[in-house]
Amino acid sequence: MDDLLDQLRTSIGADHVLTEDADVAAYVVDWTGTHAGRALAVVRPGSTEEVAAVVAACAGAGVAVVPQGGNTGLVGGGVPDASGSQVVLSLGRMRRVREVDPVAGTVTVDAGVVLADVQAAAEKVDRLFPMSLGSEGSCTIGGNLSTNAGGTAVLRYGMTRELVLGLEVVLPDGRVWDGLRGLRKDNTGYDLTQLFVGAEGTLGVITGAVLRLFPATPRHATAWVAVPSVDAAVSLLGLAQQHAGVHLSTFEIANRQAIDLVLAHLPGASDPLGEPSDWYVLVELAGSASDTGLDETLESLLGEAVEAGTAVDAAIAGSPAQRSALWALREGISEVQKVEGATLKHDVTLPIARLAEWATTIGPRLQEVCPGVRLVTYGHVGDGNLHYNLNAPLADDRSDDDALRAAAADLTAAIYDSVAREAGSISAEHGLGRTKVVAAASYKSDVEVDLMRALKHALDPAGLMNPGVLVPPTQ
Ligand code: FAD
Repeated sequence: MDDLLDQLRTSIGADHVLTEDADVAAYVVDWTGTHAGRALAVVRPGSTEEVAAVVAACAGAGVAVVPQGGNTGLVGGGVPDASGSQVVLSLGRMRRVREVDPVAGTVTVDAGVVLADVQAAAEKVDRLFPMSLGSEGSCTIGGNLSTNAGGTAVLRYGMTRELVLGLEVVLPDGRVWDGLRGLRKDNTGYDLTQLFVGAEGTLGVITGAVLRLFPATPRHATAWVAVPSVDAAVSLLGLAQQHAGVHLSTFEIANRQAIDLVLAHLPGASDPLGEPSDWYVLVELAGSASDTGLDETLESLLGEAVEAGTAVDAAIAGSPAQRSALWALREGISEVQKVEGATLKHDVTLPIARLAEWATTIGPRLQEVCPGVRLVTYGHVGDGNLHYNLNAPLADDRSDDDALRAAAADLTAAIYDSVAREAGSISAEHGLGRTKVVAAASYKSDVEVDLMRALKHALDPAGLMNPGVLVPPTQ
């Protein structure tokens, strides 16, 4: 291994090959703190050529590579295993916005560019890069593409795979595939770009991307709405689609438990409505400078919803500061959950028509498995995607983390089995990583698992690109 480390130092500079425990610490533990591995080294190449040199050297030495972006992934896919034999390849130095073309509606970036920086580059030319996640200040485009990230703008603009036109990828043998084409139309064979989207670093290292830009939406009308049930939220979604059409850009849901945690732990957070409600929805309409009637549309649809009983009360943002305060209630949930002790996360999708009944029946079932378990539910109801997260029961006003840990496997099985029965998905937007790789395979057909293994073997026959992630191990 000393030879490999020397070769890496020669290729990318000794300063960018980290081996000391203190230097690698931040790269070997995931955001959730559940996956803590060890690394042979963390390497930080500064260009596509350097990434290719690192991957070729590791392939030659038979050493596995774990690509890493902002390390905000929630399923342990971007950190090494416990063997200490894997090299973490961080894209953190590749932060160049290569080109912005407002007329073609494209931006071409290095894979290590942080999502918020892509949004800012688009804004500078009066365009919108719509992807929006709670982690946007630290996650990278390479990570977003590799997890096919979702977020709060999927309802209107689609998942990450709908926002990409071309990629540049270093293949597992070190060759570079230059697919950085910004063409809207290109029917010349298999769609290789899409193959790497959602592959979680198991087929190669994404080093660059051409992304789609959209017209800017400087006008917003935003409301925080109390709704009596998930069923009512789904009805409100239908009404909002009917009234607002393409202007409906956000439709997010959260239960009272989730909002109580935000109010308790997020500095400055306050409840914009007087009476507590079991469920809340954040609705936003967005439009161009000439779309002057958004507030009226929102008011009229909410008025109709209150009359029909699908909404109980609503607060409409009257200023950008009020809009930010409403968004903070929704976006603060992931962070504050951590403060409340152990958490069990489930990121599931259901057919929207089945969402309400599923949400009504799963809660009582989980209480049977772990009495007192706290259901912290929120998500992107417009996409049928709920983050059905659980916090430990309270015992003597303190979080009883042991009770949650002891019941964890049974709680997760109850959720996943019920989602599978409804033809839903056990990973809506976070991917499989190490956390869900085995569970996901158990809900897929043998044909689907075989296809995944065949693709992996075709591109990475030595199995050195992020092993243990996404592709189920052979028995
Ligand atoms: P990492 O965590 O570094 O890596 C994720 C995966 O991608 C790993 O498998 C890694 O090997 C691979 N990878 C990373 N870069 C590359 C590359 N260049 N080439 C090949 N493979 C690569 N996710 C959502 O979908 N929607 C949300 O709303 C959302 N909200 C979040 C809120 C918070 C507070 C946090 C902490 C996370 C949230 N996430 C969300 C999860 C996470 O931010 C996304 O999965 C994000 O896309 C990961 O990007 P990253 O750069 O941090 O990737």
